[in-house]
Amino acid sequence: MLLTDLKLTSEYLNLDEIFYHKVNPNPLKDPQLVSFNKKAADLIGLKHQEANSQTFVDFVNGSNIIPDSTPYAMCYAGHQFGFYVPRLGDGRAINLGAIKGWHLQLKGAGQTRYSRSGDGRAVLRSSIREYLMSEAMYGLGIPTTRALAIISSEQQVIRAQWEKSSIVLRMSPSWIRFGSFEYFYYKDDHDKIEQLADFVINESYPHLKGDPDAYLKMFEEIVISTAKLMAQWQAIGFNHGVMNTDNMSIASITIDYGPYAFLDDYDFNYICNHTDREGRYSFGNQPKIGEWNLAQLMQALSPIIDSDRMTPMLMRYHKIFQTTYLSLLKNKLGLYSDYDDTKLVSELFELLQNQPIDYTYFFRTLSHYQGDRDALLKLVMMKKPLARWLDIYDERLELEFLPPKERNSKMLQTNPKYVLKNYMLQDAIDEANSGDYSLVDALLNIAQHPFDEHPEFEHYAGATPDEYKNLKLSCSS
Ligand code: AMP
Ligand code: MG
Repeated sequence: MLLTDLKLTSEYLNLDEIFYHKVNPNPLKDPQLVSFNKKAADLIGLKHQEANSQTFVDFVNGSNIIPDSTPYAMCYAGHQFGFYVPRLGDGRAINLGAIKGWHLQLKGAGQTRYSRSGDGRAVLRSSIREYLMSEAMYGLGIPTTRALAIISSEQQVIRAQWEKSSIVLRMSPSWIRFGSFEYFYYKDDHDKIEQLADFVINESYPHLKGDPDAYLKMFEEIVISTAKLMAQWQAIGFNHGVMNTDNMSIASITIDYGPYAFLDDYDFNYICNHTDREGRYSFGNQPKIGEWNLAQLMQALSPIIDSDRMTPMLMRYHKIFQTTYLSLLKNKLGLYSDYDDTKLVSELFELLQNQPIDYTYFFRTLSHYQGDRDALLKLVMMKKPLARWLDIYDERLELEFLPPKERNSKMLQTNPKYVLKNYMLQDAIDEANSGDYSLVDALLNIAQHPFDEHPEFEHYAGATPDEYKNLKLSCSS
């Protein structure tokens, strides 16, 4: 399909006007295409040749609004760092409509009613980070929004310094957040909570339509899938950094990529967000915060669902998280038979916590393990604890049915060779800021194929260089 054949729908605009603000994008001057994501284009059936057309660049820039598209920003609230903020909303994101179940949204396309003091813009740095990371999560099999393209402009905006502005076209099966419900709960507008719940069921949980307990079951599914999402984040070593309730998706996918990071050396207490002084959103706190956020959602849904019926569901969260997390870790270790490996796993994590070991590189190296310990022992300063752990691991492997070679090949599909660490992204951002976008495209390819070998990028496959380890990033983007 060419852009001219694209038909976008906007069911959301059937809701009352309080849910949105119809607003046209404010295009950037002289936009240039930075990157085009063919895989995302395939999702909406858009032909790749469009990447070369000016009409497509204008589409991403919001200056080419296709017929039948009515751009709008969405209203929501949220708990930010534990405190309720009654009105947030899309302050710099403008929705164009949906196609094939994907809602297209321009992030950085100018101010809306919800911009508060913000300029409505996104800088090239943050757009590249969002674009690449959402594709990396997709490549790792973790539920996430996607991104179709980035454009950039010489037009500058002020952050800590002047930076190039940009727009990223993001796509999601839903842009409804926990905070979308909170907005109406704290306004005491129960009728709107019901309207929104019906909308969410229709959009994200259509199998529940017509069920007399649809609202309750929707909540139950959100609890289960959020617990599983948190387990996936923890197992892969992803720190989101800003788990405010407005950044929690009602479809339980990863959204709003800000100051995130993949772990370099394993550290349970790692905080990627520089403004998060107390570590509320530290890596290790994420599962607990997921539960806290669900409790806020439960509160917001209480006018339409009996809390006594929701509470037992929320109480299952911890168990679902634990079970999923353990099973993902067992897969990372190549342990497929049904034994309780809790102790083996916790001993490994104690060891990882107690000395600097690159999380991703460790598991990738372990994926080649067939008894020769040299490669693994080289990764650590203190050899003894790892050697002792490998003794127990060896014993445990004896109980597995899969021959070592097959175990290795399964583990190599579970433990990525590449995750997009912040220093790699920074390389791509630095080059992009001087006009060379080739590393953005190369990292896009790596992001989408993280388990493959990419010989020309071997230098990105090892432990993070010391000077770039465990950096903190600022929220301002
Ligand atoms: P975030 O931390 O990016 O999820 O954003 C939190 C809230 O601030 C959302 O309501 C955003 O729309 C809004 N926001 C962030 N940056 C800007 C900006 N530059 N201009 C307007 N609104 C913004
Ligand atoms: Mg947000």
